[in-house]
Amino acid sequence: MYIAYDENKKRISIENATRPNKYFCPLCGEPLIIRAEKSLARRKHFAHKSGTVCTEDWSHDMSEWHLTWQEKFPEECREVVVEKDGVKHRADVLINNIVIEFQHSPITSEEIAKRNAFYLSCGHPVVWVFDAEGQIKNSVGTTLDPMKCKENDLCWKSPKEKFAKPFPQGVKVFLDYSTEISDPKLANQKVRIMLLLRGIEPQRILFFNTKPFYIVQDNFLKQYGAISNQSVPSITDIINYIRQSSQPIQQKQVVIYPRPRPRSRRL
Ligand SMILES: [Zn+2]
Repeated sequence: MYIAYDENKKRISIENATRPNKYFCPLCGEPLIIRAEKSLARRKHFAHKSGTVCTEDWSHDMSEWHLTWQEKFPEECREVVVEKDGVKHRADVLINNIVIEFQHSPITSEEIAKRNAFYLSCGHPVVWVFDAEGQIKNSVGTTLDPMKCKENDLCWKSPKEKFAKPFPQGVKVFLDYSTEISDPKLANQKVRIMLLLRGIEPQRILFFNTKPFYIVQDNFLKQYGAISNQSVPSITDIINYIRQSSQPIQQKQVVIYPRPRPRSRRL
């Protein structure tokens, strides 16, 4: 984890943590140690001392993809403890009452259902962003460009049992992957895009709209309040635009692939 409590129960980010100060787990209250301080392969992080059993039984992704996403949100919105009837869990992001979970590593459908049920029972809608890089194929062609696809063209390369159960109301799902886009401004460039899904099943993915569209990271960040840039449309703006217009939306703000190298690998 990257955020702990200090001795005054104040949230401290790992970047501001120094020895020999004492840090504690925001969930179980046990003392934490600082790990990977000098590692080039892993980010510096907080960890329980060996032998400690944390009350948190959900596993938390620590991939670079996950971190890069989390860091787009204000620090006070990251790794937020959500509590109900004495049960505590750590949301990847909690912003404007919405829980956002970034999922890179495999997860079971039971685990997804548990997390949805917990956060919804706490009054938080849930947004999942799945790292779908290398996971999608086109059943009728070769392109992964949603602008060139019909509703059911894109599907999983291999079945994903984690999507065996339909998601309840109050839960949204996005896929995040890179592809070339037939948008004139982005012609022949590989960009990181996101798809908002209407449904997600073990074999196939269903677009939100019958007219496929894509969003980029900034649209997502605008939608959920992480950025306020006036020139960036939110997802709602894009959906409204699509409903009113027959023209495909052209993105002004794009995230070019590949992304900058992760901080921990820089010398
Ligand atoms: Zn703990």
